[in-house]
Amino acid sequence: MRIKAIVVAIASFAAFVALGRYVVRAGEPAALVAWERSLTDHSTLVALWLTRICRPPVLVALAVVVVVVAWRFPAWRGRAIFSIVMLLLCWRGADLFQHLFARPRRLDWVMKHELSFSYPSSHAAIATGFFALWAWLLSMSQLPKTTRNVAAAALVVLALAICWSRLALGAHYLTDLIGGALLAVALVSAGVAAVPSAVFGGARVGLGRIGPLMAAADPALAQIERKLDLNVPLSMEDGLALYRTTDIHNLGRLARREKERKSGKKVFYVLNRYINSTNVCFAGCTFCSFAADEFKEPDRVFRMTPDQVFAKAIETGTNFNQIHIVGGHDPRQLSLDYWLPLMRRFKAALPHVQLSLFTAAEIEYMAKRHRLSFPAIVTALKEAGLDNVNGGAAEIFADGTRSKICPNKVSAANWLAIHEELHRQGIASNATMLYGHIESLEDRVDHFIRLRESQERSPGFNAFIPLAFHPDGNELSYCGWTTGLDDLRTFAVARLMLNNFDHIKAYWMIQGLKVCQVALAFGADDMDGTHGSTDEEMIYHAAGTLSGQYVDDREFRRLIEEAGYVPVRRNSTYDEFAWDWSPELVSA
Ligand code: SF4
Repeated sequence: MRIKAIVVAIASFAAFVALGRYVVRAGEPAALVAWERSLTDHSTLVALWLTRICRPPVLVALAVVVVVVAWRFPAWRGRAIFSIVMLLLCWRGADLFQHLFARPRRLDWVMKHELSFSYPSSHAAIATGFFALWAWLLSMSQLPKTTRNVAAAALVVLALAICWSRLALGAHYLTDLIGGALLAVALVSAGVAAVPSAVFGGARVGLGRIGPLMAAADPALAQIERKLDLNVPLSMEDGLALYRTTDIHNLGRLARREKERKSGKKVFYVLNRYINSTNVCFAGCTFCSFAADEFKEPDRVFRMTPDQVFAKAIETGTNFNQIHIVGGHDPRQLSLDYWLPLMRRFKAALPHVQLSLFTAAEIEYMAKRHRLSFPAIVTALKEAGLDNVNGGAAEIFADGTRSKICPNKVSAANWLAIHEELHRQGIASNATMLYGHIESLEDRVDHFIRLRESQERSPGFNAFIPLAFHPDGNELSYCGWTTGLDDLRTFAVARLMLNNFDHIKAYWMIQGLKVCQVALAFGADDMDGTHGSTDEEMIYHAAGTLSGQYVDDREFRRLIEEAGYVPVRRNSTYDEFAWDWSPELVSA
């Protein structure tokens, strides 16, 4: 991206200077010769040299480059328009002087005072070219704010100096005065056009209102867009700015752009089965409406045997690519003795089905129970056929909040350590964040940054899934429901913060099908799974979700296509399948 910026800047600069040359040559050659003799400063010599190498074929090629870049990279269209505006300013501004104000008799006066501002029209063209280049460099710079302010001030000073030179040369005539003022206004406008882009994000410009074409309406988003163009990871401040912006359309635009860089027009879904195998749990998370105390609430307790889990999985057929199972910290179920034989049974009977089992909390529980290290338990699970670990139990990593909402659950450090070990041993996983309860925006952005750093250390996360807090039947019910805007913002911020995650999942069970469809325009590229038609999700239904239990894959495809994307069937690890793939067809 940096090379592209430099190429476009050089092309524009050369085009500006070359046009100045043509304007001069169309006028008075004798005066040009005199002007060349008067050159005293290196910058003008460089400009003159450029005018000599810029022939029509070169100019045409440069113009083609600008048009191709503008067409191929939408983010650069604003800059291309800016370039064209600068071109017109240069051309017409110089032309104006050529035909109205340039007077060879002034050259005597110029030579006498040894000034390099010897020929008004050529000088105007070249100065405008320099100005345009500076404005370009400023507008795409990642310089510190103070540096940009100083540079912007320098642009304005330069414009005023040029204005002064024009007045000094031509103040004897009213037309020169007006012409000088016009050119100065054009140049100041060009400079000011760059200043808001660099300092205020292009929200406001001088004459011509070029800024809105160059950048997002929210200045903070314009800065962030430049970072995204350069693939610079976003900071805590960037994440907070994304969450706080009211420019929701540009937030969506940026997230959608990043989504399409990752997965193009594809949006994924999976034919799967979903099972909660037990709700017995003693962890006592304050946001949880699902867990049951075996002794205090015997009527609410359920605990499936291995046979029941297997029978439930195939109750509605075997044409699915993933089985997703999670449960509570149940001492009578959560052990390797229960799970390893069941996992092997699944693999033997349904080899096309990927096992997406457990969360890091469950794995830590089993590791403690069997006195195994994390590497040892991951190895045991892998040997039994584990393909993927679910992203749950991440909740919020920030210690202060985590200690209030899930004090007895896996720590943030262990959650990350387990996932990193899974990745090292070749097992994929996902990550989640529970938002919309007592956490702060800083907690959310901190969560993203920790996930991004973990992915950097040990790559293997496939998807991030934002989990909206649901308030029914738990201790945090006073927090209420998340709003649609908060949900969409969170999808978009996740997409923009997690630049090393390939997928952002909009799980219809959590935010609902309609919000999840809109989330596809805010960076999400996955709608998760169909579930089986007789499956019973318990965790979110206990907390009050209004989503159903099952979505037909035809409905997924309709929603995705209506959003302008291409539905793609996948498995846990994002291998792609034809929409009508079935295990029978494979074996035939
Ligand atoms: S969220 Fe999970 S670990 Fe926490 S109480 Fe509920 S079932 Fe147990």
